[in-house]
Amino acid sequence: MRFIRKIFNKFRRVILTLLGIGLPLFIYLGYIRQDPLFEPKYDIQIGRESVISIQNDSLENPLLPEREYPKAYAYIREMVSEITKSESIEYDNLYKYDSIRIIQRDDILNAFCTPGGYIYVYTGLIKYLDHPDHLAGVIGHEIAHAELRHSAIRLQKEFGRDKILDFILFSSAGVGGYIQARILSQMLTLEYSRDQETEADELSVVYLSDSRFACDGVGGFFRKLVERGEDDAIPEFLSDHPDSKKRISNIDAKVASLRCNCDLSSTETWEALKKSLPTPPQ
Ligand SMILES: [Zn+2]
Repeated sequence: MRFIRKIFNKFRRVILTLLGIGLPLFIYLGYIRQDPLFEPKYDIQIGRESVISIQNDSLENPLLPEREYPKAYAYIREMVSEITKSESIEYDNLYKYDSIRIIQRDDILNAFCTPGGYIYVYTGLIKYLDHPDHLAGVIGHEIAHAELRHSAIRLQKEFGRDKILDFILFSSAGVGGYIQARILSQMLTLEYSRDQETEADELSVVYLSDSRFACDGVGGFFRKLVERGEDDAIPEFLSDHPDSKKRISNIDAKVASLRCNCDLSSTETWEALKKSLPTPPQ
């Protein structure tokens, strides 16, 4: 022991210097240094690939035909453009938020957004919500996932930057492959983390605070689910990571810090929109 201490004392300065340089370097290389995330413009290409596979599966995702329902599309497009007015939205000109589509499934209370901003809303969600502000809140939440590039971050973490860039390169050349198929299926079933859901909820409040909608719109859906005791079977965009009641209180805290407007819009045109949607075949 004494011998070791002697050696330590003798080389103290060298050992401490090595530790001083080596440890931070080890931490930096191991944990902090990561490849920079691929550029946002590639999100559109990844998103387009998923749009193709959504459209190819018309049994699972029957799109409400825009030609037959121009008013419904005009309604939700206007809603998107009202939300994307927010100065907090960075990729409005790059991403495809205005290409929002409606999926004709009354059995699904959900909405999602691919990388690059292709938003999909289910008729089930529209019919469930009592106020347009609540749909605006959900759409704001989906836009936040795209803006924060949550899917891109998760995909790069899972597959690595090179494979993603290969996917982008080969998908544009129409070349298939195992990795391509895996990336695509992964992307369509991607679940967000608890922190990502919370972040998207909070940003939805920020976006809506710049709009004519009640800024706590995203909380409206959770409230209805909780009131009706239906919050145990909740879809992706809510996902069951953070508990619904906790999400409501987070949203309320954000609203309190921004002191934004929570007055609900009139429901007249909203009810007309809901009535105009097709009823499922009996
Ligand atoms: Zn979400």
